[in-house]
Amino acid sequence: MPDFLETYRRKRDFTRTPEPAGADVRPETGNSFVVQRHRASSLHYDLRFEVDGVLVSWAVPKGPTLDPKVRRLAMHVEDHPIDYLHFEGVIPSGEYGGGDVIVWDTGTWEPIHTDDSRTAIEKGELHAEVYGEKLRGRLVLVRRDDKGERAPQGDKEAWMLLHKHDDHAVEGWDPEEHPRSVLSGRTNEEVKADPHHAWHSDRPADEAEVSLLPTQLDDDAIDALSEIEKEGTWEVFGRSLKVTNLDKVLFPAPGKDGGNSKGSGAPVTKRELLAYVARIAPVALPYLEGRALNLHRFPDGAGAKGFWHKARPDHAPEWLRGWDNPDADEGETTTYVVADEPAALVWAANFGALEWHPWNSRTAAPHEPSYALIDLDPGEKTTWEDLLVLARLHRTALEELGVTARPKVTGKRGIQIWVPVVDGYSFEDTREWVKGLARTVGKVVPELVSWEWEVKKRKGLARLDYTQNAINKTLVGPWSMRPAPGAPVSVPLTWDELDDPDLRPDRWTIRTVLDRLEEKGDPFRVLLGSAQELPAFT
Ligand code: MN
Repeated sequence: MPDFLETYRRKRDFTRTPEPAGADVRPETGNSFVVQRHRASSLHYDLRFEVDGVLVSWAVPKGPTLDPKVRRLAMHVEDHPIDYLHFEGVIPSGEYGGGDVIVWDTGTWEPIHTDDSRTAIEKGELHAEVYGEKLRGRLVLVRRDDKGERAPQGDKEAWMLLHKHDDHAVEGWDPEEHPRSVLSGRTNEEVKADPHHAWHSDRPADEAEVSLLPTQLDDDAIDALSEIEKEGTWEVFGRSLKVTNLDKVLFPAPGKDGGNSKGSGAPVTKRELLAYVARIAPVALPYLEGRALNLHRFPDGAGAKGFWHKARPDHAPEWLRGWDNPDADEGETTTYVVADEPAALVWAANFGALEWHPWNSRTAAPHEPSYALIDLDPGEKTTWEDLLVLARLHRTALEELGVTARPKVTGKRGIQIWVPVVDGYSFEDTREWVKGLARTVGKVVPELVSWEWEVKKRKGLARLDYTQNAINKTLVGPWSMRPAPGAPVSVPLTWDELDDPDLRPDRWTIRTVLDRLEEKGDPFRVLLGSAQELPAFT
């Protein structure tokens, strides 16, 4: 069988796009069809029929219709892999077909007047009876006479699409009046704002699609925790975890004048921490999984001195993944903890970890960062208002560059901005890029910024710390608690919130942040589907 997908693969870089690589054609022959609404450089609908284990495809600028009086231009494009049937998401800008895609309609179809669809298409005419949710009845695709139409560019052919006068025909029917996905109920705008699914093209098709919506912990698990006395076994996320010293205070009471005085005044116990961690773990996990995790441990609580714990302890449960760093020097940690499931974070909290610092690279490629990190590090004299000025200047610069990024408060005094990047960059690449951006922003407000390395020489000014972009340098992870009174949290923000007069770097604690999550969702989620190339700037 010829490789129908050769053109499809040639046009795409699967390290950069979430689209399926389509390694194989489907062994058994099915009869699915799909129509995707695709906002690329221009809006169009992609009409695809399953033929010989691939999707034969046309791009229809004005979309298919039930209106029998309308003839639509349909550009015959390359065959797509069968995995594309359920592809809904965001193709990064700059990549082939960059834009957002929804599954506008899907169902089954049958060829009419032929049992050899591929030959019928080669001859230039396909009659298809479709059984979709929106599209029903007989569609006809006919290749245009080369004399009648100018030949289009490249390998694409101009065809014509029409709907027959049959029982399903509806005059005046307009696809734009039916804008939602039949898979997720979402519009293209909604998918763009929060891509529902990630597509891992390096995995087999049946494992490739990963829901980005976290599974919530049910209340029974929290009730079970409250019933354990001082210590015991907690069944959580399908694991039996030994939990200890549940009534020990791990965070002092929040200060009266602190930004986190909104929580109640009591100190925070380990039991309360474990309940928070179990609730937030499904939300935080996508930023941690597949990465070595540096744990900031405070076994005697945030009021005492903490230390970095990087090694996977021998007493860790067997299911907790470890990773051997091939570059570890003598005396350095060799085996790191990797939190690949929510229960791993609960385990870490019971182990006294009051902060999660994920590596910026995955264990699969430790020298390739996933994010360009912008760390706005306030000096002693930097006011919160100064820091917001710096954050907003970065916002403007990133918008100008067309880069997808989001800010978060650290839970202490700072703000960070995370910029997801495609595979293949080195830490030196991202460091230089962030440095260039920092210099550009710094020129606008030289009175706020110091470029000195030593704290003493900074004269209390802020530092735009691009040096965080280095292997095994870590920033606090999204949704991690911080070891400070009241248990503040590092919270992802939308860009608009930088203009909110009530914003504070330590505004939310483990007692208040879940309400915010419920109301606002996770502003970082969009980053998971937005790996991008870093544009050059001058
Ligand atoms: Mn398309």
